[in-house]
Amino acid sequence: MKAGKDYKFWFCTGSQDLYGDECLAKVAEHSRIIVENLNKSGVLPYEVVWKPTLITNELIRRTFNEANGDETCAGVITWMHTFSPAKSWILGLQEYRKPLCHLHTQFNEELPYDSIDMDFMNENQSAHGDREYGHIVSRMGIERKIIVGHWSFPAVQERLAEWMRTAIGVIESSHIRVCRFGDNMNNVAVTEGDKVEAQIKFGWEIDHYCVNDLVEYVDAVSKADTDALVEEYYSQYKIIDEGRDLDEFKKHVAVQAQQEIGMEKFLVDNNYHAIVTHFGMLGGLKQLPGLSIQRLMEKGYGFGAEGDWKVAAMVRMMKLMTAGKKDAKGTSMMEDYTYNLVPGKEGILQAHMLEVCPSVAEGEIGIKVCPLSMGNREDPARLVFTSKTGPAVATSLIDLGNRFRLIINAVDCKKVEKPMPKLPVGTAFWTPQPDLATGAEAWILAGGAHHTAFSYDLTVDQMIDWAAAMGIESVVIDKDTRIRDFKNELRWNAAAYR
Ligand code: MN
Repeated sequence: MKAGKDYKFWFCTGSQDLYGDECLAKVAEHSRIIVENLNKSGVLPYEVVWKPTLITNELIRRTFNEANGDETCAGVITWMHTFSPAKSWILGLQEYRKPLCHLHTQFNEELPYDSIDMDFMNENQSAHGDREYGHIVSRMGIERKIIVGHWSFPAVQERLAEWMRTAIGVIESSHIRVCRFGDNMNNVAVTEGDKVEAQIKFGWEIDHYCVNDLVEYVDAVSKADTDALVEEYYSQYKIIDEGRDLDEFKKHVAVQAQQEIGMEKFLVDNNYHAIVTHFGMLGGLKQLPGLSIQRLMEKGYGFGAEGDWKVAAMVRMMKLMTAGKKDAKGTSMMEDYTYNLVPGKEGILQAHMLEVCPSVAEGEIGIKVCPLSMGNREDPARLVFTSKTGPAVATSLIDLGNRFRLIINAVDCKKVEKPMPKLPVGTAFWTPQPDLATGAEAWILAGGAHHTAFSYDLTVDQMIDWAAAMGIESVVIDKDTRIRDFKNELRWNAAAYR
């Protein structure tokens, strides 16, 4: 999938007119070279656009407002090549509303020991000018990403690339529209939340429809279109019939194919990017959407089960952040289900009733038709698989009544020791950092949910930066987490985020 637009990032270099035209020509030349090389690096997911050097209050203000107004601009990267008196940045920064990066770099990598003189120092003083600029951004309390190091370093370019993806999450968040079929599950606490506050904080539009509005779309799908999609399923996935009647099996699969086409048409016609279902509120749907939802998630739609709109929006947002990423390993809704508590092999088996995104799958993906232990519908068809290994992030956005908190857990995904032939769902298995006992204790202390928005393709830092840009609290559970410190962090956050 692709992000919503062909986004670009503006590169704005700061200076002033004190140094004369010759120096300013050099400043412009240097920043052009940096931009060209950043674009040539192949590391950045989005293009960097060079902007004329910012030397006056008026120009800075105008440029930031142009960035606000340009729909393809997803953020501004700033860098002070020379000294740029920071009062001239106040009005522009005050009016700027998009993600901001401060690339604290310098044109030359090494001190030119033999030739350095005062002219060189005056022309190349980002160590000096970037501090003046940084001061005013901090004084104004503006959220920004600071990346330090020579612009040619792969590590610096990687961080810039990661920040760009976070910025896409920030920009795209305010375009996310979630379609709820039914309310969230009765009596469940953690899937509740303040939808008005979510729109204020994240820009999410969270609407509600009767599930039978969807049924009309599903019923309207032609048999020919349904059959064609069933054939696609049969060519793409392994049919695991487990002795069921083959015609009956295929009819069950066809119900999901019809749902996939009908649901997608509903989402496209009504401009939604994320969907929420509830197994207890299926109206005229013959099966709980399983395979159909799994396929839609793979196409880039967000999903939350049992009415969980926070997870649906987060999955959509994280899919946009990782859109087009090379060798992406996948992003999905997950649910903490069952533990393996054997010492040295501890982990949490992740699954859901049906709805795990096949983007996380490794190896063969099969289709099974099995009874659902809940609800009163036909046995739904679903995709079954196991997931990739390696580091990933599991996140939970919760509503604490007076604020949102994003809980971010670094997890290590593994293969389970043995196959689980009787388990008819897509699964993942991970050990939370720093270890199962500490990770699970911290998660529960923080109030983390059983549903998570999960990705192999995002880092803890990207999720922290996203939360900061949204103005909400985030807490991290990773290799450095100690329960005593974590409890204090929660206490201090309660004071800081009143
Ligand atoms: Mn659930």
